[in-house]
Amino acid sequence: MTEPTTDRGPVAADVKADSSKEAGQRVESMQKMKVDVGGGGERRNPGDETKALFEVEDLSCYYGDFRAVRDVSMTVPMNRITAFIGPSGCGKSTLLRWFNRMNDLVPSAHITGSIKYHGVDLNDDRVDAVEVRRRIGMVFQKPNPFPKSIRENITFGARIAGYKGNMDELVEKSLRRAAIWDEVKDKLNQPGTALSGGQQQRLCIARAIAVEPDVILMDEPCSALDPVATLKIEELMFELRDEYTILIVTHNMQQAARASDETVFMTMGEDRAGYLVEKGPTTEIFTNPKHQLTEDYVSGRFG
Ligand code: ADP
Repeated sequence: MTEPTTDRGPVAADVKADSSKEAGQRVESMQKMKVDVGGGGERRNPGDETKALFEVEDLSCYYGDFRAVRDVSMTVPMNRITAFIGPSGCGKSTLLRWFNRMNDLVPSAHITGSIKYHGVDLNDDRVDAVEVRRRIGMVFQKPNPFPKSIRENITFGARIAGYKGNMDELVEKSLRRAAIWDEVKDKLNQPGTALSGGQQQRLCIARAIAVEPDVILMDEPCSALDPVATLKIEELMFELRDEYTILIVTHNMQQAARASDETVFMTMGEDRAGYLVEKGPTTEIFTNPKHQLTEDYVSGRFG
């Protein structure tokens, strides 16, 4: 495997679509709805972070007649941490949940426009939502381990996804990658729910990692955690970035400033529809934003 890049410099907001042969093969395997746990040749190569993993085009998100998000167009780069910030109710979580079709579970939710992943329209009828969610995992606001042992929290999803390898190795590898192995290796048969909040959240990250995703979506993953546990998750995000693309919604601006490469600032209009004001390298959004609205928000003047 080629060593992934560890460069943490900002990337251009507009990155090129990944049109390589490899991407074409990934599209095909998604359309065949194959579950190929164990990695689909999607580990990173140097330079991948300049490619767009997602392309969002004219996306509007609705609940029934209510338009919660309007006209979003942007790209999301590979191997980077992209943070979504903005006032409460501007549609950050709604938008995030469309990146892995989690909103399929909300009957009134629908969209116009598209989100392409490796060039595939995620909402194409031929694309299997279960496979989408395996490749694009999610970590929620409140840590939600299964009411099972630590070990089973890791093996459960992998088994359903058809993992045929050595489960002990998978458990250790996933827990190590989520920086929690040393804390739990002697109590793998104890309930995941008995861990501290921060440990539970890292267990949930390990669970997400166990099915070899490509992307991890995080919806305010630290809002229920204390500052020490929060820092551990942020450090972990930077370690994971070499192998995964991370999208994080956060209400905590310091967290976005500390723990992301790119920042998307959203706000909402009088009709309460959220929209994208500005997206760019995090340092620019926080120190030299292009829009007054962004400046007012990041300097704490509103929101
Ligand atoms: P944010 O994450 O920025 O706080 P949300 O995406 O949670 O914003 O919410 C955006 C808008 O969509 C809000 O007006 C919210 O009330 C509405 N909304 C969110 N979830 C649902 C739902 N399941 N059904 C109807 N409206 C919803």
